[in-house]
Amino acid sequence: MAKDENLECSFCGRKKSETNLLIAGMDAHICDSCIEQAHGIVEEELLYAESLNLSNELVLKKPLEIKTFLDQYIIGQEATKKSMSVAVYNHYKRLLQVKNDDNDVEIEKSNIILVGDTGTGKTLIARTIAKMLDVPFSIVDATVLTQAGYVGEDVESILSRLLQAADYDVTKAERGIVFIDEIDKIARKGDNPSITRDVSGEGVQQALLKLLEGAVVNVAPKGGRKHPEQKFTEVNTKDILFIAGGAFAGIERMISKRLNMQAVGFSASLSEDKINEDHILQYIIPSDLKSFGLIPEIVGRLPVLSHMNPLDEEMLRLILTEPKNSIIKQYKKLFEMDGVHFEVQDDALQYIVGKAVEYKLGARGLRSLCEAILTDAMFELPSTDEKELIVSKEYAEIKLTKTTLKKLRAVS
Ligand code: ADP
Repeated sequence: MAKDENLECSFCGRKKSETNLLIAGMDAHICDSCIEQAHGIVEEELLYAESLNLSNELVLKKPLEIKTFLDQYIIGQEATKKSMSVAVYNHYKRLLQVKNDDNDVEIEKSNIILVGDTGTGKTLIARTIAKMLDVPFSIVDATVLTQAGYVGEDVESILSRLLQAADYDVTKAERGIVFIDEIDKIARKGDNPSITRDVSGEGVQQALLKLLEGAVVNVAPKGGRKHPEQKFTEVNTKDILFIAGGAFAGIERMISKRLNMQAVGFSASLSEDKINEDHILQYIIPSDLKSFGLIPEIVGRLPVLSHMNPLDEEMLRLILTEPKNSIIKQYKKLFEMDGVHFEVQDDALQYIVGKAVEYKLGARGLRSLCEAILTDAMFELPSTDEKELIVSKEYAEIKLTKTTLKKLRAVS
């Protein structure tokens, strides 16, 4: 007993009697207060290492580099690619500042909203950014969201998906990107006659606001109220980048109206710049989103606003062949794996694009058109000795029957 009393902490020298707990190691002892202190040091060091890690990851991604990366996958949409590159750069600068800085200038989040027709590349841009940054990415459709307590998905389900995409690593998920599609469909009912469901709309916008602002949210990891027994995970949304997208059908009218009123009021500035009537969307400003039915708080929380240009024939043509993983490059690879040299002649490409325009199939339709033209070849060639497939306009015409085209239009 007397011997035991002589024991002391090998770190601070306190006698056993002066401690609450003294733990024995091989040749040394440590007391409870030294353990606590050591724990604090470990936590601090880990946090520091994490912020260093983060800065190492981010130092490389300047706006120009982000844009160059996007250029490899996205045709056109220059204005959006540029403003997204800056927004993403600032977003991650903000993360670094939160970790390293004590000063009081707090950089606000640069959540983004993209306005433009369906199929113009909104999701593609968001997905490509996430791919470049190697962060978890999830897509959620705003139309399925409802206020808590109604049938449908709670707004929190947005985070369940992100958590899933992050393999349930909460720290990773908290730096992820969420794409909220069809945000225009939760516009306030009064201002938008096309909305008929009561439980969506303003209530959902209010719920969404909390996530966009940054909040600690209890998330059911495996989704929804269907599994009440599972534990909730706390997810902080303050560093999650939200990118919202929507077609905002009819918003051009609101923009024109505003522009006309301005033109009357301040005849100088706008009429001198000559408004391009074909691309009214480029003049969009946040107040147009409010006129459409988004609540001002939501508009305020999506400070980076950009528009998508409609895809013209030239862009569709480039989408077929130019992106790093373009449709044609993918088919080339598939045929190569069978030892078949594959080529599509220029007039055939033009023909495909022409049909996509004629049948209003958009960029999404390009793949279905190619699939319809190439299915026979992909079925037959692997069982023959044929080592070449050159798709001419005539070949494409034979394969694309009117019935096929009508079917494609029906499903698009
Ligand atoms: P949105 O989200 O605007 O409805 P998507 O991003 O889902 O449109 O686009 C649909 C598909 O069309 C993409 O997966 C891509 O293959 C193609 N696409 C659309 N716009 C572009 C573009 N600007 N550059 C390259 N591909 C595009």
